Amino acid sequence: MGSKTVLVVGGAGYIGSHICKALAARGDNPVVFDDLSSGHEHAVQWGPLVRGDIRKRAELDAAFAAHDIDAVMHFAACIEVGEGEREPLRFWDNNVGGVITLLQAMKAASVETLVFSSTCATYGEPETLPLTEAEPQTPVSVYGRTKLAVETMLSDVSKAESLRYAALRYFNASGASPDGDIGEEHDPESHLIPNALKAAAGLGEGRMKLFGTDYPTRDGTCVRDYVHVSDLADAHLAALDRLLDGADSFVCNLGSGTGFTVREILEAVETVTGMPVPYDEHPRRPGDAPTLLADTSTAERLLGFKTRRSTPELVIGDAWAFHRRVWGLEGKALPIKPDA
Ligand code: UDP
Repeated sequence: MGSKTVLVVGGAGYIGSHICKALAARGDNPVVFDDLSSGHEHAVQWGPLVRGDIRKRAELDAAFAAHDIDAVMHFAACIEVGEGEREPLRFWDNNVGGVITLLQAMKAASVETLVFSSTCATYGEPETLPLTEAEPQTPVSVYGRTKLAVETMLSDVSKAESLRYAALRYFNASGASPDGDIGEEHDPESHLIPNALKAAAGLGEGRMKLFGTDYPTRDGTCVRDYVHVSDLADAHLAALDRLLDGADSFVCNLGSGTGFTVREILEAVETVTGMPVPYDEHPRRPGDAPTLLADTSTAERLLGFKTRRSTPELVIGDAWAFHRRVWGLEGKALPIKPDA
């Protein structure tokens, strides 16, 4: 297959930037389309940046006109579950309305291949574990419902038109590029591993909130499936190739297949950083399922998916190296004292 030009929508964000790096590493050309509302210009390093808003058709049309796009990979979305409950219209406008506009622009530009970021949050509270793609989708958050709405829309559109798509349902994307150049930089940060690292380093409030200790799990805290962002990147390239080779649309979980409790992750953070993670126990966070764990057999079968870095030690080690750099901690005595 010759080199491909891929419009990476949301390519300045956490997962999108890792995909751009992986595309460029194998000789493809990522073109980032991003409004930089939550992404970072410094994360766009492997191709041009087109600044634009997916809800604005003219801005998408201009991007397709300026670049000879072979396929689209779509990452731009509002993702913070709590924000979705407070601002549902913004989530539906961006996560669903934006994809309608994107599909219209793709159709006008005769681009028929789409890799879409979906999520295990479309499953809601699972009935069977590990979760297969056949699990009923009954999302319990606005975020999950917007992602499910797009999956439904893609299915409808692909039946009537020549669109072919992959909907990749991520479990807990985590870690950073092993080179330390890009990683997770959300503001505000709601995810466990960066928050635990921040607490270990004595940054921010210096203490982490542990949400929920009375779940029906082995130690009372939630079990999650942490998949390294570089493993996710490999899976995206395989999904893209599968579609470009002419395969039918498909839906696929992307996880590591192994679950860890919040307490186990905190222990791994302490081992990796060599510092305690100060935390306080809080009530459950609304919308958190007790256990989310991927059955990865579809990914193995369709994408040849094998995890290479999805262990807590590698995920946290890579995240720690990245955060030490961006937080300016290299060479500093840790943890930072509040008055230092
Ligand atoms: N969590 C926590 N404190 C935090 C962030 C997360 O206790 O500061 C817990 C959260 O309740 C869940 C797990 O860690 O049980 C993973 O949460 P995260 O937000 O990282 O990912 P999610 O599973 O919600 O996508």
